[in-house]
This record gives sequence, structure tokens and C-alpha cells, in this order.
Amino acid sequence: MDPIVTEASVSTPVNFYSLTLEDLKSLLKKFGKEQFRAQQIYKWVYESRITDPEQMTNLSKIFRADLPKILSFELPKVLQHLKSVDGTQKFLFDVGEGKSVEAVLIPSDDRLTLCISSEIGCNMACKFCFTGKQKLQRRLRADEIVGQFMQVNDRLEEGQRISNIVFMGMGEPLDNCEAVFKSIAVLHSPWGMNLSRKRITVSTSGLIPEMWRIADAKVRLAVSLNAPNDEIRSEVMPINKKYPLKDLLDECRRYYKETKDRITFEYVLLKGITDQVEHARMVYKLTKDIPCKINIIPFNEHPGSGYERPSDEQVGIFQKELMDLGAHVLLRRTMGRDIFAACGQLRSAFENHPGQMDISNSKLTRTIKGGKNVTDPSRREPSLR
Ligand code: SF4
Repeated sequence: MDPIVTEASVSTPVNFYSLTLEDLKSLLKKFGKEQFRAQQIYKWVYESRITDPEQMTNLSKIFRADLPKILSFELPKVLQHLKSVDGTQKFLFDVGEGKSVEAVLIPSDDRLTLCISSEIGCNMACKFCFTGKQKLQRRLRADEIVGQFMQVNDRLEEGQRISNIVFMGMGEPLDNCEAVFKSIAVLHSPWGMNLSRKRITVSTSGLIPEMWRIADAKVRLAVSLNAPNDEIRSEVMPINKKYPLKDLLDECRRYYKETKDRITFEYVLLKGITDQVEHARMVYKLTKDIPCKINIIPFNEHPGSGYERPSDEQVGIFQKELMDLGAHVLLRRTMGRDIFAACGQLRSAFENHPGQMDISNSKLTRTIKGGKNVTDPSRREPSLR
């Protein structure tokens, strides 16, 4: 008897990584297949990393023959895999039409954090951000977001596990809600990668109308604060003109009220612009009634930014002032400086000079396309942007 797949024979297979278990059940139903098969496929793919239907031995022969017409298991191809001397690893993924996005794997004392991208370029145009200079070209699909995770996961050393995900790579996640929250549902699923919601952080520049979704998804909120008042914030982050600080902080209070989860404020220190003692006092005043930690991030210099990194001494003064006032402060060291540390830099270098990136001055331990790599856990707090 011929396989039953008539619809699938004429339609393009759906990318498996874009589907929650429920989505997959509905899809299989549409093709006249038993829904319990969805769990079996989920298990093969996420637990055993088997994507060849022929190896899914508990599926019937007919089902195995039909599967490639219903589902594709394609992942974004790894174009570059760079490893820093400090243990940070950067990945560049091919997302079609000559475009690429980055993900960064950051080891620290007790975690292995993956910073992933949600868009190609970004329309928020934050002045200090390298990606912000690359206008939005396309929002990623859920399978392209999950795909970044799976590709990195497949290259981990024996016994390693990605413990945390942060949406702090290229793009504003709340500008691509559908795909971002779908990917979170897939990765969180106990039948998927079973990542705890509390270990998933969505970072926003302050798209207030969409911020409720972060509480709704029960994941952690990080806010790119980056300035002590509206005047400076509107200058460095144009989104502040539309959604000013007072409204943003009110939304943060709402998030805390709903979730009881502490918020992370990211604060990039720009020399002479956001790094003064009075700025530290203003930041404290803004955030003191919100349970939070403040990550201070000395600016990661990149060509043409027009901003400078403050001296270590000034960073220390700023940090001390906040701590003396009673704030919970973490200083992020810049990691992966030898592998295009600023978010979007690797992509830019690659797309401008594919196949001939100048990495001769870096301390790269190796450049790999595809294969396994080693990790060398570092003990520092990362800086992602
Ligand atoms: S900091 Fe984030 S939101 Fe701002 S331009 Fe860069 S990627 Fe976009």
C-alpha cells in the first residue's frame, strides 16, 4: 500500500525545530498520522539527536517513508566557529540569502550561557551597538533560533550542558515576539531540551507594549538601561523617545509584581557620557525600589562607534558608588575580545570579506567549520554587547 501522505507530497516539509509538541501533533493529524508519534519523534530528535527517519526504529516503515515529506530537520549551517583564549566561543550561522547571525557561548563558574540572536540586524539603532548600525534585514524564524541552540549543543564536550540562554545577541527579541516565544516554548518543553524558564532571559531595549509577554512566558527580564536620565538615554537609545524611562520602569515594577523575579538592568559605561559618579547616583535613584541587579558593562570599543571605553579606575569608581549606595552590582568583563567581541562584528567581518577574514592578529586557538571543539571554561562574567 502506498504511504497516505497526499498533502505532504505536494507541500514543502515544515521545519521540525519550529514546532512545539502540540504543533507537531496537529501537523501529524493533518496528514492522517497518529498523534502519539509526535512524542516519539521529539524523543528521537531532542534526546537521542537522531534526525534520520530511517533510524527512528519505533516508527512504522510507511511512517518513516512519509516523514521527509512532512518534516525537515535542517539546521542553520555553521559558517564560522571561533574560540577565544578566554574560553568564549563564537558561532556564525548561515540563515540564507548570504545573511548570517551570531551566537556566543560563554563559560563561567557555575554556568554555560548561550547568547542567541533573534534578528538579522536591528531597527532599534542603539548608538553604542554594532548590530544597531546594521538595519533590520529579517526577523529570524523559530527554527532558526532553536537551530542556533542545537548546533552549539551538538558541539559541546562530553558532560557539558548549556545551562542558560540569553536573548542578547543580534536583534531586539520583542520586535520578533512570535518566533522568540515559540522558540522558548520548544526549548523549555520537557520533551524538548527541558530548559528551565528561570534560566532563559529575554533582554529588551524597552519595547514597552510587548514586555508583558516576558512575564507571561515566565522567563527572566533584562532591560538595557544604559543611561541615568531621559536626555542621555534618548541620545544613546532612540527608542527612549517613544518609551521614556518612567514608563519603562513602571513596566519593570509590573513585571516584578507579577513574577517576583528580580530584574537585570544592563548598563553600558560610555566614557564621559554615562560613567560619572552623579550618573551612578541617578541610576540608584531610578532603580532602588525595584528588586534588581545592575550589570555594568564597560563599553566594548568597535570601529566607527564614536564612543570610548572608560578607564578601569573610572569603572571602579562608578561600581563602588553604586555598591556603597546599596545596589546589587556586577561588573562584566569583556570576553572574547580576540574573536570580534562586539555583537554583530563577526557577522560584518564575514559578510564583507567571506573566506578571507583577517584574524591574524587575534589569539584564536582555532577556527573550525563544523566539527567538535574543546572548551576551556573561564571564570569571568561576560559582556555580550
Ligand atoms: S543593543 Fe539590542 S536593541 Fe539596541 S540596536 Fe543593539 S541589538 Fe538592537
